[in-house]
Formats: sequence, structure tokens, C-alpha cells
Amino acid sequence: METDVLVIGGGNAALSAALSAHEYGARHVLIVERAPAFYRGGNSRHTRDFRVMNTREDNKYMVGTYTEEEFMEDLNRVAGGEINQTLARIIVRGSEELPEWLSKQGILWQPALTGTLHLGRTNIFQLGGGKAMMNSYYQTAQARGIDIWYEAMVVDLAIEDGECRAVHVQRNGSIITVQAKAVIVASGGFEANIDWHRRYWGAAADNFVIRGTPYNQGNVLEILLNKGAAQIGEPNAFHAVAVDGRAPKFDGGIVTRLDSVPFGIVVNKHGQRFYDEGEDFWPKRYAIWGGLIARQPDQVAYSILDSKALGNFLPSVWEPISAGSIGELAEQLGLDPDVLNETVAAYNWSVRPGTFNPRELDDCHTEGLTPPKSHWAVKIETPPFYAYPLKAGITFTYLGVEINEQARIKMNDGSLSKNIFATGEIVAGNVLRRGYLAGFGLTMGAVLGRIAGREAANEVTRAHR
Ligand SMILES: Cc1cc2nc3c(=O)[nH]c(=O)nc-3n(C[C@H](O)[C@H](O)[C@H](O)COP(=O)(O)OP(=O)(O)OC[C@H]3O[C@@H](n4cnc5c(N)ncnc54)[C@H](O)[C@@H]3O)c2cc1C
Repeated sequence: METDVLVIGGGNAALSAALSAHEYGARHVLIVERAPAFYRGGNSRHTRDFRVMNTREDNKYMVGTYTEEEFMEDLNRVAGGEINQTLARIIVRGSEELPEWLSKQGILWQPALTGTLHLGRTNIFQLGGGKAMMNSYYQTAQARGIDIWYEAMVVDLAIEDGECRAVHVQRNGSIITVQAKAVIVASGGFEANIDWHRRYWGAAADNFVIRGTPYNQGNVLEILLNKGAAQIGEPNAFHAVAVDGRAPKFDGGIVTRLDSVPFGIVVNKHGQRFYDEGEDFWPKRYAIWGGLIARQPDQVAYSILDSKALGNFLPSVWEPISAGSIGELAEQLGLDPDVLNETVAAYNWSVRPGTFNPRELDDCHTEGLTPPKSHWAVKIETPPFYAYPLKAGITFTYLGVEINEQARIKMNDGSLSKNIFATGEIVAGNVLRRGYLAGFGLTMGAVLGRIAGREAANEVTRAHR
């Protein structure tokens, strides 16, 4: 079959691109989503907020202002390497008008709340979270006559001289060949592909938890890279946080993340501490804990707390494991009780008196302990004692395709693709090499999605002339 614009994927990046292509005049837009309708929306359905520049004091959904320069500084501080500064600035500038455009697509916002990650000034929160956002996106797309195929998986792209001549889609047991004047790839990363992780992590990959959709297997990314698209981003890098070890293998979403780390100690399966739990504010450190746990034996760890700690962090989905003594706690966790007792005793012994304050980098720290605990170090001595098993929860991967400022894919030979555009997680490596800024994933996907949609519509107009 034929279409003007074919959009591959069904999350925030895909829907913003499809709606934008339609807005700019593409008559026939087709979205091809691998997941069934109930699971549509990829990782975007797990999200809560967009990071946006805000120069208006009277913004009723945000607190204070967040300037272009501050946003750029924040991004460059966390980017983890050299990034495309022009593209980064386009995203930052484009973010300011994003909430208004998204409102026109039916997305609702909620006033800023306080929470563990303190984002009220820099981020705007969707009312009802990512699921409500995706439902609004799809309703609007349907109302505007955009075609949507569910349970439709792109299995190949015929690319010649940087031009996509056909896209092969597996649907209802057969392969449909779609010829599109422009193609927008928004199919996410490869985070759910355990075999792919094994290439870099070996057997450890089997112990990873994938926080989002099982459908992001990276097959379109692999096809593009094999067919001449320029690669960008660290192949083995991922964003990963500490999740409850009892979380499901896939799709546990935001609620399985655990924020207890700064309020106790964390040990590995040998009962040993391995990193400073109070190094910095949790919003600046939560994203390194997935990687830290991924490097521990069997990729597990345990957050150990006493009764004073509860109430300092967001409640967990599963009750913590509790016991009257550290030894009993160790037995329940399958750890050596003597070793855990020794680890806790050594920690308690090194804690120096201070004024505990979870809102500040307080003066409660250890002395003579390796690794140290720099802040919020209070003795673990008041029963009952609690523990959470922890695993590495992978959020997304960084490997992707290189694009230019029109979201057009660059080819290995330095040329630009004639009609393939990309947005969302699959282009993350252009503006993030390893690090992450909360809320930036959605912003990047939607700003570049709008651009990709506009450019794809222009391509259609050119083709009709
Ligand atoms: C638990 C969790 C919470 C998060 N919270 C936030 C947040 O609050 N703010 C934020 O900015 N970011 C957040 N992120 C990151 C965010 O989810 C991503 O940056 C963003 O959703 C990526 O959007 P996307 O459209 O590129 O990919 P996705 O939303 O993952 O969509 C990819 C789509 O491609 C489809 N697909 C894959 N392969 C194929 C194929 N072969 N054929 C057809 N379709 C295919 C998938 O089914 C899926 O619909 C969070 C991530 C997780 C896991």
C-alpha cells in the first residue's frame, strides 16, 4: 500500500511526529505500533513529566522560571560527553512552547507538587501521567484521521542511496509492503533486548530488570545501522536505577523505583558496602545506582535501614522485609548474619554526631570508613530493622542514529537521507552520551517529533510537485 508519511513506533515521539506531519499538511499519515492497543505507547506511557524552559512567572503548572541558559548548562553538565550543541539548543528553545502545543493535542497538566526529585521549577507534569497522555494523543490522532495499526511490527526497510523505498510490516501473520513518501522512525532504544545487552554485559544481562515496555527490542535501529545510517551514542551505555528486586522483569514502571538508599546503607550479596550512599542529593545520584548494582555479584544488592528511616522516602509498592535484629534480617535475605552484623557495626562505629536533615547536604557523615557515607549517616540501631532487595532497572539505552537539525537521518558516507527522519529515544545519543536530565526524554522526543513531522510533510509536498 501507499501512504504520505509512515511513522514507526507508538510513543510520545511517534505521536507528536504524526500529529505534526498532519498539521503541516500530510494527508495520509500511518502510525505502525508493534504493541497491542492496550500496551500502546512504549515507555512514554510510564512517564510523568517534561523538562521545559519557562520564562513566565505566572505559569500555573510550574514554580518560578527556568531559562534557556540554565537548561543548556544543566544539559551540558550531565550530557556525559560531546553533544550536538545546535540540536540541543533547538530542543531547549522548542521546549518553551511545547506545553501549549501539547495542550492542543488534548494533553492536560497538573499543578506542581513536592516530591523526592524536586522538579516543580524545571518540569511540567502530565495530569494522569503517561498513560493519560498517550490516550489523549491517540484520541486526537484518530479524530484527525490518522491511521493506526496495532500489533504491526516493522521488520525491514528497503533503503537505496539513503532513500527509503519501502517498509515491510508484519501484521496479522503476513508481511505488508508500505511505500511512503517520508518515513519517521520513533521506535525507541534496544533496552528490552536482553540478547543485545549480553553483547556487552555477558550473563549479567539476564539479571537486569527492564522498567518499561518489552516491545523496544531495537530491531529498527539495527536495520538502520546495517543499512548505512550513521551511528551515535555509547553502544553499552544505559540509564538504570535501583528497583525493588521483586519487580516484574518488564514494564514495572515508575513505582518499582526505590528511594531508600540515602537513608541507610547498601550491601551486596557478600554483605559488603560498595558505594557512598549519601554522596549527593538523591535526584543527582539515583541514576547511577542501577549501574552500580549491575556491577555487583549476581547483580543484586540490599538496602538496609532501621525504623528511623521509614517516612523519609516515597513509600514502596512492596512492604520492606523486617526483623527484630540485623542477624535475623540477614537470614531472611540469605546473607551471612555475621558479616552483615560486622558491616553494620563498622558503619555505626564510624558515624559522627550531626544534625540530620534530608533536605540539605547535612553534616551527618562517617569517618574512617571505606567507602564513606558523606551525608545522612545515622546509626542503624533502632529495631525493627528493614531491608529492600535491589536490582538494576534499565530505563533506556543511548545507542542510536545521527540526525541533523531537521531530524533527518545522516548516512555513514556523510550524506543525508532523502526521506528518513528520526526522533525520540532512538536519537538520544545526539544530545546525551551517558548522562540524563529528568524529563528530557519526552521533551527531546516531542520537540524533534514536531520538527520531523514538519520536514516529512515538506517532503510529501515536494514529492507531489
Ligand atoms: C519507568 C519510566 C519512567 C520514565 N519517566 C520519564 C519522565 O517522567 N519523563 C521523561 O521525559 N522521560 C521518562 N522516561 C523516559 C521516557 O520514557 C523516554 O525517554 C520516552 O518515552 C521515549 O519515547 P519514544 O517515543 O522515543 O519511545 P517509546 O515511548 O518507548 O516508544 C517506542 C515505540 O516503538 C514501538 N516499536 C518498537 N519496535 C517497533 C517495530 N519494529 N515496529 C513498530 N513499532 C515498534 C514500541 O512498541 C513503542 O510503542 C521514563 C522511562 C521509564 C521506563
